[in-house]
Amino acid sequence: MNLLIIGVQGSGKGTQGKLLAKKLNIPHISTGDLCRGTDEKTKLGKKVREYMDKGELVPIELMTELLKKRLEEDDTKKGIVLEGYPRFIDQAKLLEGFLTLDYVLFIKISDKEALMRISGRKVCKKCGAIYNIYTSPKPKDPDICDKCKSKLYQRKDENVEAVKKRISIFHSETLPLIEYYRNKGILIEVNGEKPIEKVHEEILKKVKIR
Ligand code: AMP
Repeated sequence: MNLLIIGVQGSGKGTQGKLLAKKLNIPHISTGDLCRGTDEKTKLGKKVREYMDKGELVPIELMTELLKKRLEEDDTKKGIVLEGYPRFIDQAKLLEGFLTLDYVLFIKISDKEALMRISGRKVCKKCGAIYNIYTSPKPKDPDICDKCKSKLYQRKDENVEAVKKRISIFHSETLPLIEYYRNKGILIEVNGEKPIEKVHEEILKKVKIR
């Protein structure tokens, strides 16, 4: 089964995608992770980062090539949980040429919630802990990891300006995809403002997975 998860940055699509992939025993493929996973010492990695760090989309040919390459790997045969692609109609049409989607899950949250969740996110590069200085888990000191006392960092593309820009790109370019997939009869909508477990349950119920 091939599933696509759509949601604004911070909607929890990564978390839900991973939970769902685990449940279905198929890989979770995030194009954001594919971009971040490129080697930053290579020409390709440098080019990808130029766009990512400004909160901009990577050019369509480059992004499609990265995804197609990942889909050629053996573990994708039983299906995948895809996240991050397509971001707009042209990518959706391109995707149809190399992958058939069974369901599209739209995880809905407000822009205000998205901004708070993302611009407050801090990570510890040493032990990998993730915090949120506005929501939870809140670190005792906004700059120091509770667990290993190392310095906390904000991802380069998660500052307020970059996040606002991405929310606005989501509205203009990605939201039309919702109608596109609704018209194809494969769209499922879930409320992403509930706790992680509840959202997961709602997804399983709506996709009819036990
Ligand atoms: P994400 O983790 O999904 O928020 O993606 C992080 C970054 O990766 C984006 O800001 C883009 O620069 C790049 N990216 C991910 N998916 C796509 C896509 N479908 N098209 C173009 N760029 C993408």
